[in-house]
Amino acid sequence: MGKIHVLSDAVANQIAAGEVVERPASVVKELLENSLDAGATRIKINIEAGGKKLIQVTDNGSGMVRDDAMLAFERHATSKLKTAQDLLSVQTLGFRGEALPSIASVSRLRLETRSPEDAAGTIVEINGGKIARVEEAGLPEGTSITVRDLFFNIPARKKFLKAENTELSHIASLVTHYALAHADKHFELHSATNAVLVAPPVAGSSERVYQIFGKEVLDQLIPLAALVPLERVGLPQPPPWRREAEEDSVPADPGEMRLRGFVSKPEIQKLNRNSIYIFVNGRLIRDRLVQHAITEAYRNIIPPSVYPVVLLFIELPAAEVDVNVHPSKTEVRFRQQSVVHDFVRDSIRAALMKARPVPQFATEIRAHPTAGQSLTPGAAVWDAASSGPSHPSEAAWRNAYEPAGGFALRPPSEAAVAERLQFDGGIAVEANAAVPVARELKLRGIEAIPDPGCAPALDNVESEPTLDSLATLKPLGQIRNSFILAVNEDGLWIVDQHVAHERVLFERVLKQRAAQQVESQRLLMPMIVELTPAQQAVYAQIADELARNGFEAEPFGARSVAVKAAPAGVDAPAVEHMLHELLDQLSSEEQSLNLEKIRTRIAASIACHAAIKVNMPLEQNKMEWLLVELARTEHPMSCPHGRPVVLRYSVKDIQKAFKRI
Ligand code: ADP
Ligand code: MG
Repeated sequence: MGKIHVLSDAVANQIAAGEVVERPASVVKELLENSLDAGATRIKINIEAGGKKLIQVTDNGSGMVRDDAMLAFERHATSKLKTAQDLLSVQTLGFRGEALPSIASVSRLRLETRSPEDAAGTIVEINGGKIARVEEAGLPEGTSITVRDLFFNIPARKKFLKAENTELSHIASLVTHYALAHADKHFELHSATNAVLVAPPVAGSSERVYQIFGKEVLDQLIPLAALVPLERVGLPQPPPWRREAEEDSVPADPGEMRLRGFVSKPEIQKLNRNSIYIFVNGRLIRDRLVQHAITEAYRNIIPPSVYPVVLLFIELPAAEVDVNVHPSKTEVRFRQQSVVHDFVRDSIRAALMKARPVPQFATEIRAHPTAGQSLTPGAAVWDAASSGPSHPSEAAWRNAYEPAGGFALRPPSEAAVAERLQFDGGIAVEANAAVPVARELKLRGIEAIPDPGCAPALDNVESEPTLDSLATLKPLGQIRNSFILAVNEDGLWIVDQHVAHERVLFERVLKQRAAQQVESQRLLMPMIVELTPAQQAVYAQIADELARNGFEAEPFGARSVAVKAAPAGVDAPAVEHMLHELLDQLSSEEQSLNLEKIRTRIAASIACHAAIKVNMPLEQNKMEWLLVELARTEHPMSCPHGRPVVLRYSVKDIQKAFKRI
């Protein structure tokens, strides 16, 4: 007798739930997406016990008629597509018809819904996949789905859920990002009596970022907007798995790809990718290709081991992206992978270049890489704010969002305090913030005298100068023969002389290399450099490129090379050190070496070893020269290793510190 039998729907649903419902946040995601697909403009989410006890999503969308309300819980029941052909042009977030039956099979679910066509609404209750009640009821238009006791019938899954706060933070992060993606809609998230997020509709994403995170975060982000017509880049052959089906579905006009969102300034550095959010056609996804493009855009702007904050909305014609890749719909496949990759990379790079933001004292001092999800309120915040009203005033709401350390993106304030500059007189002064003089005076028992206007504000204070104003800097002198102090109309600047020169040389070497004319200098005596086996292996790989960068070297015995000429500016004693460092660095690279990477590493290494050192006195004309050269670089804000080159103490900061504004 045969052993194979067809699984019952109940079992099939639980298997699907294994993929679709990983944790409470996945339930929220599916319900939220359904509400958005139903055209809702108001979505309210209630959570209890991190979603383990209760998840309720209420919307004002299209609702369902009675028959649909029943059908929605059948496996593969969907209103969003009919034929396989439709899969190629999915416009909705859902399309698999799997979410509701899956969720209903692992929880106690109650659906309340009414479509405008029906006078009365429908209530459906399902426990662990079994229909318990279907009833007519007077209900408002729209849909409300309540999911209780998630995984009550699968104890093994329930055990894997994390602490309530952790699950809540995943939910909050998810809802926050959907709210960012849909600025024109009203989102609310409540946990028990605590309003975690209340975001009425606003005009655009900047307003939304401001509304949710406040000005400080918005100031740390650079807006992004780019568009590329797809016809210009041409359409390569579709991949074989779609070739036949696609023949008539590909429109004659391939349309265009759009990019909008925000990327963080280089001084914001994160220890992991948790602050990178990528949406494709309104769908939150994880994607290695786009991640890679982002890393490439920030290459040599931030250190390789840290990550930026990115909120990216990619929009492209449905035919250009395959969304049917994974049951949880968090992955997609782009039809023109390299076009998407390069467009994302180049657009972000261009935005970073254009903004040329100047690091300020305070942000630099506080810019410790942090691990938290930057665009998510910290879990502790909700507890602290648990007594908030359901519609908190803006101020109360902001308070709930902005306590010290509330957002990882705002630098930890403790650190800033710890790094106050200590002045000789004993008054601790925060680098960039308004100096709390009055407070200090009070502490010392001195009353501050009221100021009726003895310190009028200056005229025409430009608030945000860019690095273009570097060109007008006038050097005053050096601090400890290491940092150049310079002024112009925009304020006071401190330039790290070593990294500034490093940036200048780095760009110069890359340019010279591109033109095949790197300057080289002959050493008086060949220098014998011994190499370890690992170094030898890398040397063999990059010898040719080293030669093109001004190194003349040949094998000398089994384990050494004799260097006869080196790039200009790198003096003999530095040559050995530099070679060792470069070879070690490249041998510890995790990914395979490509020519571009080798070139930039070599250029960075030459720049580092040829640059003016710290503790070196510089004459006035040399300082002037350096500032002029720096102003000419393409990217003067950070060195090839990602450290800042200049710090600015703007006129506004100075005025604030003197309590003039
Ligand atoms: P999918 O979203 O892939 O179609 P689901 O199981 O999530 O599958 O939902 C099944 C169907 O139920 C949807 O196609 C939609 O017609 C209906 N539905 C679900 N949620 C809502 C809602 N909030 N408002 C209106 N209709 C809904
Ligand atoms: Mg769905």
